[in-house]
Amino acid sequence: MTDKQELFRRLPAVHQLLQQPQVEKQLQTAPRHLVVEAIREVLDQLRQEIQQTASVPDDEVITGRVLQLIETKKKPRLRRVINGTGVVLHTNLGRAILSQAAVDAVVKVAGGYSNLEYDLEEGKRGSRHSHIEELVCQITRAPAAMVVNNNAAAVLIVLSALAKDREVIVSRGELVEIGGSFRVPEVMSQSGAILREVGTTNKTYARDYEQAINENTGVLLKVHTSNYRVVGFTHETTREELVALGRKYSLPVIEDLGSGSLIDLAELGLPGEPTVQQCLNAGVDIVTFSGDKLLGGTQAGFIVGKRELVERIKSHPLARAIRVDKMTIAGLEATLRAYLDKEQLLQENPTMRMLSEPAEVLKKRAEHLAALLSALPGAHRVATVPGKSKPGGGALPTTELDTWLVEIQSEQISAENLAASLRKTDPPVIVRVQEGKVMIDPRTLLPGDEKLLVKVFHEVLTG
Ligand SMILES: *Cc1c(COP(=O)(O)O)cnc(C)c1O
Repeated sequence: MTDKQELFRRLPAVHQLLQQPQVEKQLQTAPRHLVVEAIREVLDQLRQEIQQTASVPDDEVITGRVLQLIETKKKPRLRRVINGTGVVLHTNLGRAILSQAAVDAVVKVAGGYSNLEYDLEEGKRGSRHSHIEELVCQITRAPAAMVVNNNAAAVLIVLSALAKDREVIVSRGELVEIGGSFRVPEVMSQSGAILREVGTTNKTYARDYEQAINENTGVLLKVHTSNYRVVGFTHETTREELVALGRKYSLPVIEDLGSGSLIDLAELGLPGEPTVQQCLNAGVDIVTFSGDKLLGGTQAGFIVGKRELVERIKSHPLARAIRVDKMTIAGLEATLRAYLDKEQLLQENPTMRMLSEPAEVLKKRAEHLAALLSALPGAHRVATVPGKSKPGGGALPTTELDTWLVEIQSEQISAENLAASLRKTDPPVIVRVQEGKVMIDPRTLLPGDEKLLVKVFHEVLTG
């Protein structure tokens, strides 16, 4: 006990640490409160360590820990990371990344005034929505369009505007949860619509919808099951059948397409997903989809379809609460412009580029990275192996893309510990851990990442 008290007394005081030349120097670049906070936190840790181990490191080590914590605290909380997982639309890592054109557009309107709601022709108030709606209509051939904060908000406002206090008929096989907290039944209850589930989890027929239609039916809803598939003994009512029912009973048919691709992914060698255009051509009245999934743009929710319905949705009071900001509009406009020219799109949109990168190109990139990493000092083994990447983002849940992985195994550090150290580097690196090995999929590496990987692996492998 007395030993510990002696150790507590040996701990430096806050003002003493502040006077350490190296710490004092930090005050030139870091605010004082941040430096003091770091000192207090390190002293707290040291007190706990005394309780547990009855020892105190020497002053130099204590100063070192303070300096390190100051460095950590100076960095922004939201940071760029290297995605080594091969999951192209990784929701936890920010989903789609923007093209350079989109980034430039965001930067320009963010740092200056813009004609966000100003009509430059007339010199008077304009509409923020005008900038992208025409473009969306041009690409999808939809009669009308609206953009909101995200697809969850799009579904919410569509149901609020078109089905409040009315029944929305939806298949039990489509009452999905899309990760986070987007659950179809819960969004429905928020909107004031009444859920009328029909069919079973694996089979729903057109007659199930038809039998449920009554005088209080408001909408027929189809939901893309995004992150899962019902396989085996199944039957899904087609959108054509739903559209026929909608016409027969004068009910709008709404489809939440989720990821919502604007181009036929079969052209990229991926399994076909219904495109927004196909849904509209089939006669669906309103289609909703995300901006930052397969479209490869900013977070946003699109609502496209019949003019009269879109106008009703636009005039709903929720529209103001879920409107998009100028940076989103700028990023989306630039992203969508590339869709007017398929070649430009495939070159410029990072999501499209990553999804369509052939395995033989990825093999070369994996071999190049493996050569750089195996040349680093330290006892570790590096190899390249064939593997699979995932599109992610709830899109194409059963699709895997052929890729080549770089495997790294250290003789001193376990794969879990290596992965944990890589999360603490600058920039942090997120990898896969499989079969006791750290793996990096070059598919999601950006230009310049290889060089950074060599730097951070050098740090973690050599301690
Ligand atoms: C992803 C998804 C949503 C939610 O979209 P956000 O843009 O993330 O709000 C809603 N419905 C479906 C079917 C989805 O796949």
